Amino acid sequence: MLIVQKYGGTSVGSLERIKNVARRIAKFKDEGHDLVVTVSAMAGETNRLVDLVYGLSDDPDPREYDQVVSTGEQVSIGLVAIALKEMGYDAISLTGWQVGMKTDSAHMKARILDVDTEKIKKYLKEGKIVIVAGFQGIDEEGNITTLGRGGSDTTAVALAAALKADLCEIYTDVDGVYTADPRIVPKARKLDKISYEEMLEMASLGAKVLQIRSVEFAMKYNVPLVVRSSLNFNPGTIITKEDKEMEKVLVSGVTYNKNEAKISIRRVPDRPGIAAKIFEPLKEANINVDMIIQNISKDGYTDLSFTVARNEMKKAVEIVKKVAEEIGAEGVEWDDTIAKVSIVGVGMRSHPGVAAIMFKTLADNNINIMMISTSEIKISCVIDEKYTELAVRVLHDAFNLDKEPEEGE
Ligand code: ADP
Ligand code: ASP
Ligand code: MG
Repeated sequence: MLIVQKYGGTSVGSLERIKNVARRIAKFKDEGHDLVVTVSAMAGETNRLVDLVYGLSDDPDPREYDQVVSTGEQVSIGLVAIALKEMGYDAISLTGWQVGMKTDSAHMKARILDVDTEKIKKYLKEGKIVIVAGFQGIDEEGNITTLGRGGSDTTAVALAAALKADLCEIYTDVDGVYTADPRIVPKARKLDKISYEEMLEMASLGAKVLQIRSVEFAMKYNVPLVVRSSLNFNPGTIITKEDKEMEKVLVSGVTYNKNEAKISIRRVPDRPGIAAKIFEPLKEANINVDMIIQNISKDGYTDLSFTVARNEMKKAVEIVKKVAEEIGAEGVEWDDTIAKVSIVGVGMRSHPGVAAIMFKTLADNNINIMMISTSEIKISCVIDEKYTELAVRVLHDAFNLDKEPEEGE
């Protein structure tokens, strides 16, 4: 089999851990598999590099940010290759540009456009274990790009798709995908399998176990994907196509996201074209808007609130203040102490009443809901950040997520 494996930061966080990873890789090689391995930077390293950059500038040049922040992975791939060689295995490490990981030029959040597989295939033919740097690529001009935090997952899945690998394994520091972040909900249960669609929602709503783009890639190219621990041999979680069993379960997981901020514009004149006036300049500044709510209009005026990523709040507020003045709104308020808690499950399509349970559970715990948004398979509520952990736990209880779903339920 051709297997693509990815080892996250904690899994390569020390020389001991790197040796452990090398032993695992060697075991698969001994079993006769061809292996392409992606690794992240050693635990904490990317944060250290980001801090260095922001120590010099509040608004760093994106190209230079990528130049600095991509370097953690070059160290870890080299170290893994050295560890394997020490054990007598033939390995070669390749950076993003050496392997031809082509991306667009959107520095700090680049998208993979194409992967050059020729070189990898040649090395595999020679019997080598190929170690590829995660998180980084190269644009048309030859600039180094990075794929956004957590991007090594996407490197691995893109490699698996391009190489038509038989399996893509994401090795991390937990046993798989859980019903909620096991660090916050000790009772969280590991899922044996989850649909691409649910995983996509969970990733986009805050479950950082997989980067959202990696799931998009896996879904699009039907990559067989498994999340498992690098510290044991437990089977992990399979991410796969939806099946009948999955639909029986009301809710599959609870997630939270503390990286958003809320911006409200008071007394916006209620007339056609106003929303476009507000959101177009945000789009032009490349700021993603998530939830939007508009109140019922009173005497020709309405309040409008929306959320953006917390690190883009300042920039967004500046833009919105200008627009508010132009359109004659009363004022702009902002709040970066909010959190979004969400429940996700394909079963919601066929089971009514899930939202009511969510709202009642939050109400019973005196948690005020500031905003609500829904899709076919998820419901999200914005709440005060300080109640995040409580909200996640009580929702986990309300939907009995610690218990194995009963047959035929
Ligand atoms: P890596 O460095 O291996 O990429 P990450 O820290 O990016 O690891 O992702 C793994 C972490 O994701 C876990 O340690 C866990 O705290 C967190 N996490 C959040 N939600 C979930 C979830 N639903 N299931 C599993 N892990 C989750
Ligand atoms: N090292 C990068 C990060 O911390 C990429 C990754 O870990 O997936 O975001
Ligand atoms: Mg990660």
